[in-house]
Amino acid sequence: MASQIPQITILGSLNTDLVAYVPHHPLPGETLTATSFLTSPGGKGSNQAVACAKLSRPRSLSSTPSAHVSMVGAVGSDSNGDLLLSNLTNYGIDSTLVSKLPGKKTGIAMIVVEAETGQNRIIISGEANHEVDESYVTKGGWLEKTDMLIMQLEIPMGTVLKAVEEAKGKGVDVLLNPAPAKKMPEGVYKGLKHLVVNETEAAILGGVEERELDTIQGLERVGKGFVERGVENFIATLGGRGVYYLTRDGRSGLVEAEKGVKVVDTTGAGDTFVGRYALDAAAAKKEGNKEFDIEGAVRRANKAAAVTVQREGAAASIPWRDEVE
Ligand code: ATP
Repeated sequence: MASQIPQITILGSLNTDLVAYVPHHPLPGETLTATSFLTSPGGKGSNQAVACAKLSRPRSLSSTPSAHVSMVGAVGSDSNGDLLLSNLTNYGIDSTLVSKLPGKKTGIAMIVVEAETGQNRIIISGEANHEVDESYVTKGGWLEKTDMLIMQLEIPMGTVLKAVEEAKGKGVDVLLNPAPAKKMPEGVYKGLKHLVVNETEAAILGGVEERELDTIQGLERVGKGFVERGVENFIATLGGRGVYYLTRDGRSGLVEAEKGVKVVDTTGAGDTFVGRYALDAAAAKKEGNKEFDIEGAVRRANKAAAVTVQREGAAASIPWRDEVE
């Protein structure tokens, strides 16, 4: 009998995060002394894979996960690449299709976190992630074994577009988290199962001013715009305000953020949300997508992301399943 455990594959970026915690964001020309510094595994692709894996099981890797998780991407032939690969393995993620590219460097993200607000500012140097070309979509036939494909925009756009098309053709559900936001051809939205955006991405891709998202009416207008373009489930994460969702079959709502949360570092919060949401969406896909409880999925993801914002770092700050349920 075929496994009833869904297969989630993340095609995306792997970066080494260099994180400095500062009293305030530096002004032009200002040199600041960080209060602390850490190096950690990151990249939206890798973080979302870690979120799926950690939230699919209690801390023990010997327990049965609610999903199998694989990563497709590239690192350089340096020690940062080795650390990223062992990070995936440590969380039980299949990294067989992460290439280690000779003569290339591993992607880097320079992150500055303001102590007072937990807000981050990020500069990325993609390096090996730029080499993830269209051949990665067909490599090893991974798409044929996948129930849900998760992607972001930290790898070349051509690869994302090809993967979306191939996945749709094979009946694989796609969750697209278009971050960092870039204009995409209209065809991407047609038949897209899940679109998860933050406020900035919703505004850029929805063609509106960010302040339009301040009201439920504005969120509904933008959400409906994406549904008209072909998206089935639209989800906008709104930081401390929570999450708005709207579906093609007319369900919608605003799930408030968890109360009493002391924000330490928001890095990885959006990725945690995507990972937890994807676990429910992939389970629903395995069941034939008959009754996907989107509100339940959003609530559970909202709760998991609230844990991440209260801790430093990305991968390490993402909770295991037993820490949230
Ligand atoms: P990042 O890029 O920093 O990972 P993002 O911009 O993609 O984040 P946000 O919308 O800022 O995503 O946050 C994602 C989710 O994290 C929110 O929808 C919410 O569930 C949770 N979250 C963020 N900030 C807070 C907060 N202040 N209190 C409670 N939950 C929060």
